[in-house]
Amino acid sequence: MKAITVEPKKTGTARYEDFPEPDVSEGSVLVEAIAVGVCGTDVEIVEGKYGWAPPGASRLVLGHESLGRVIDPGSSKSLKKGDLVVGIVRRPDPVPCPNCAVGEWDMCTNGQYTERGIKEIHGFMSERWRTEPEYAIKVDPSLGILGVLLEPMTVITKALEQVLMVGQRAYWEPKTALVTGAGPIGLLAALRLSVRNLEVHVLDRAATGPKPGLVQDLGATYHTESVMDLGFNPDIIIECTGVGAVIADSIRKVNAGGIICLTGIGTGGALGGAIADFAAATVLKNNVIVGSVNANKRHWYKAGENLAHSDREWLRRLITRREKPENFKHALEREPDDVKVIIQFSED
Ligand code: BGC
Repeated sequence: MKAITVEPKKTGTARYEDFPEPDVSEGSVLVEAIAVGVCGTDVEIVEGKYGWAPPGASRLVLGHESLGRVIDPGSSKSLKKGDLVVGIVRRPDPVPCPNCAVGEWDMCTNGQYTERGIKEIHGFMSERWRTEPEYAIKVDPSLGILGVLLEPMTVITKALEQVLMVGQRAYWEPKTALVTGAGPIGLLAALRLSVRNLEVHVLDRAATGPKPGLVQDLGATYHTESVMDLGFNPDIIIECTGVGAVIADSIRKVNAGGIICLTGIGTGGALGGAIADFAAATVLKNNVIVGSVNANKRHWYKAGENLAHSDREWLRRLITRREKPENFKHALEREPDDVKVIIQFSED
């Protein structure tokens, strides 16, 4: 079969190539890939900045935002041939740490977790892939290709759950929410925030293209100015850019008692000595900055429900480009109007 593979931590090594069929040891459920979403993490891996091959191997099959059709349900009692499924990304560490032991692998404390297409287990950018039945999430069949948005939706489901949980520490009635970055994660965050009783604002550099309209159609306000120039202090900030300057401005701008959730894994920026000032402001304003990564099974189920009940036409507009696997290099290059680029392996 064909797969998109890369030698992690080495630039220019990504290839669309012949690759052995997935081994039964990878799980009894056999799946035909329909599509795989491309995200910033994939780009970082291809650029040689992130990623780990399986032990003993030099290459990693890329891809963690999957959607496929069951060919053989294996030992699964709930799946049948033809079902649409998405594969869970993370596996608990083998020790396991207490969090992994209770199924909260997203909160793994010893860093020995593995992740499909990212860390030590092959991903989903191959014509066929296998998974253990308990890591296959059935997708509402009426979602069709939109099921490829499930993984990013799980990331935001967890992040918002974190914010709301932290909010329980005191009397807190958030009125305004700011999302920084209108990529797929940011837009899905805006979608989920907009169904709450909140005034939602989204900030991004793009002044044209699909993003402003997608935000306005949620009843939210789109901004291209800097965070510091906003005329209000947000109670909630979901930071989805990973850009140092935007994070610094968010810490300055958040309302007293406000909560910032960092979701972007960016590349630095010059914060330097300013960190102490930010820390002092965080203390004096009782703010919480919470980092959030990945998602556990509770979030996967919740995200599946949320996706299935979302406006299909709005979701459809998030997928701005479909590429064939052989065009994967183009899929990894972001064009200004891209929101979610997917690589399509077979008919949906
Ligand atoms: C993925 C997560 C993963 C994280 C860190 C993100 O792009 O969506 O599932 O945990 O990268 O590797």
